[in-house]
Amino acid sequence: MEAIKRTTPASEAEREAIDGLLGPGEDHLGRDAVAGHVVRGRRHLLLPCLHALNDRIGWISPPAIDYLASRLGASPAEIHAVASFYGLFSLSPRERVQRHVCIDLACRAAGGPTEHSVDDGAHPAPCLGLCDRAPAAITIGGHDPEPDPGLAAVDRANDDVLLRRVGSGDPVDLDAYRADGGFSALDRARELGPEGIIAAVEASGLTGRGGAGFPTARKWEAVRTQPVTPHHLICNADESEPGTFKDRTLIENDPYALIESMAIAALAIGCELGRVYLRGEYLRAYRTLSTAIERCRSAGLLGSSAGFDIEIIRGAGAYICGEETAIFNSIEGYRGEPRNKPPFPFESGLFGQPTAVNNVETLMNVPSIISEGRRADRRLFCLSGAVRRPGVIEAPIGITLGSLIERAGGLREGSELRAVMLGGAAGGFAGPADLDLPLDDARLREVGLTLGSGVVMVHDQHVDLVDQLRRIAAFFRDESCGQCVPCRVGTIRQEEAIERLATGTGEADLSLLRDIAGAMRDASICGLGQTAANAIQSAVVRLGVLT
Ligand code: SF4
Repeated sequence: MEAIKRTTPASEAEREAIDGLLGPGEDHLGRDAVAGHVVRGRRHLLLPCLHALNDRIGWISPPAIDYLASRLGASPAEIHAVASFYGLFSLSPRERVQRHVCIDLACRAAGGPTEHSVDDGAHPAPCLGLCDRAPAAITIGGHDPEPDPGLAAVDRANDDVLLRRVGSGDPVDLDAYRADGGFSALDRARELGPEGIIAAVEASGLTGRGGAGFPTARKWEAVRTQPVTPHHLICNADESEPGTFKDRTLIENDPYALIESMAIAALAIGCELGRVYLRGEYLRAYRTLSTAIERCRSAGLLGSSAGFDIEIIRGAGAYICGEETAIFNSIEGYRGEPRNKPPFPFESGLFGQPTAVNNVETLMNVPSIISEGRRADRRLFCLSGAVRRPGVIEAPIGITLGSLIERAGGLREGSELRAVMLGGAAGGFAGPADLDLPLDDARLREVGLTLGSGVVMVHDQHVDLVDQLRRIAAFFRDESCGQCVPCRVGTIRQEEAIERLATGTGEADLSLLRDIAGAMRDASICGLGQTAANAIQSAVVRLGVLT
């Protein structure tokens, strides 16, 4: 049956935005300039095309969807389903440049608006990764959007490894990076070869810094030994856990170190094209990293002569795309929904091929491991909330919570410690009695907490903790991809139960909350559903909130 065609064609600007990525468009008979299998093989360009439309026009119209569908050999319904998945895209007319205002935990604790009190014309947004300057907002959209606000606050120390170049000069000065020893670790890695690199990483004890904590060497070895080729490397820079802003800090300040780290990882696993899946809201990081990649290509450090290249994929406002298999679907041009595991990414990841996914901070540990044989015994913490100097701090794993808060200048004047959120919305709450807790995942697990992505959000007596729990519940309800019932329904029921408890009308709701938490943890497909009740349960059990 012939497809029903809309009578309004895509505008010239819409066609130009799409053709700019896909090449010449249809001829006068509506035929694409290239063959069908080639058309369908370009599906991975869907997300960049949607960004091109959104940047240029401000929204994605039905005729633009039709045109994009014809260019990619997909149905308009498929394109619509993908476009509607992402928070940064709009399917109805809106202004080309938009103001996005954070309504999430650190910002509302700092007096920022809620979803109901955002100024007219502004868009309520989940955590923007600007918690060090809460309350925060950014401007995005348009051809040449403003980068987000200035560089993140960082508390430097002399023995810093990961932060040692942060704030020390022009981050895209390639000569300065090389003069500081940059790319010498890559030279050493070439001498070591894949097995030597992996042995060094294993000896360092490096584990993932994105939240899951999986041993990096085991992941790389599993990909390296897969017979199927090509092998893929994805740097997960879709930093969206509320309270987390360390990866943004690293990319904005030390982009060449990330490039060098990825080049070493690629050598280890046998990969020729690495991808950085970068949070869509991180415009400054995008520009900085793009410039650094270009300069490396010009210098022969990336590109065909180097045997390895890097491309950046911009995310589009979906927290779930931080989940490694959701990233695959997103890059391939589908809705960013997690996949069932097994198969695991090391055997069947991006495009069904062996893939290693590593977080930014994880990768940035690698150069000093290779060149100095360092142990991976430090990590980054994102301090926000009621401390004197919010920002990123590098400290040894195992530093106590109290010592870390002291590193951030201690509590603000007049503040009394009420609670500390550790690990983000998927983490948990510590209380005033926990200041001696060592921040080490193994020790934290013993008391039901986690370090996750390094969030340390300090709440004082002025913060309404019930309101924070409401926001956490709303966050997971919004961000659930809806694919599996325990999470899709559980996050809604959880939010309803909290609302009843908050207004004092639901005595049976505490046990209901516990049951929902158990069902989501045990039966959800991915980490989002499995952890969506963690912080709320820990606030109830450890701090007595809502009881
Ligand atoms: Fe989607 Fe939630 Fe299921 Fe994960 S647990 S797949 S986010 S519905």
